[in-house]
Amino acid sequence: MCSGRVDLEFVLRAFSNGMDGVFIGGCRLNECNYITHGNYHALNMALLCKKIMEHIGLNPDRLRIEFMSSAEGILFAEVMSEFGNKVRELGPLGKGEGIDQNELKSKLAEIRKLVPYIKVVHQEKLASRLENPEHYDKLFTKDEIDKLLSEVISYYIDPEKCQACMTCAKRCPVEAILSAKNQVHVIDQEKCIKCGTCFEACPPKFSAVTKISGEPVPPPLPEEKRTIVRKKKEKGEKDKE
Ligand code: SF4
Ligand code: SF4
Repeated sequence: MCSGRVDLEFVLRAFSNGMDGVFIGGCRLNECNYITHGNYHALNMALLCKKIMEHIGLNPDRLRIEFMSSAEGILFAEVMSEFGNKVRELGPLGKGEGIDQNELKSKLAEIRKLVPYIKVVHQEKLASRLENPEHYDKLFTKDEIDKLLSEVISYYIDPEKCQACMTCAKRCPVEAILSAKNQVHVIDQEKCIKCGTCFEACPPKFSAVTKISGEPVPPPLPEEKRTIVRKKKEKGEKDKE
């Protein structure tokens, strides 16, 4: 219904499914019927997606976003025919750019896994309202996206510090933390969407969640070594309590 609903994931999924081009049509900017002005969100998402496409070697012209009213049938027909010709000229996805099909598939799969992370990192820019088309190209720079994708952050629970309070597991939005009573907690890196909630939620007195950038995540503690052996309180201390 609204172009603002077109998620970055939808566009990347279309390319993963072999689409040679993606067109997003939205209402004219500043003519949205709602206070949300979702078409600005769609514009920012498309600008971000174009930089991501450049990062993985795809021609960003394969993605086009245009704004027009439902009364502009002729404009719509012209834009679609122009875009269709452009995509035909670019050729099949990946082949036109000289990227191996398997390599392209794995690059797209990797980026799709990072969509929530990319959206969290760039949430402010994604919510901005660009009034001047001259600023479109400056919203996201290729260097910024290259850096973001080459220095992806990961989260790791330090087994020496984790006290199995379970706070992180309760707050994780995708159930990526292996949690059990009296067991050191472990992040399933395959499921983790790098939202950083566990990092914020771990009580400061434990500070067991670490942020890792550009380095491999240490392997998880083997299951049989995860039980936390708590020291019994001295009798004197107990009596005082
Ligand atoms: S960063 Fe932490 S809270 Fe967020 S998905 Fe990963 S494990 Fe879960
Ligand atoms: S919140 Fe911190 S101490 Fe508590 S289970 Fe998670 S990592 Fe361990």
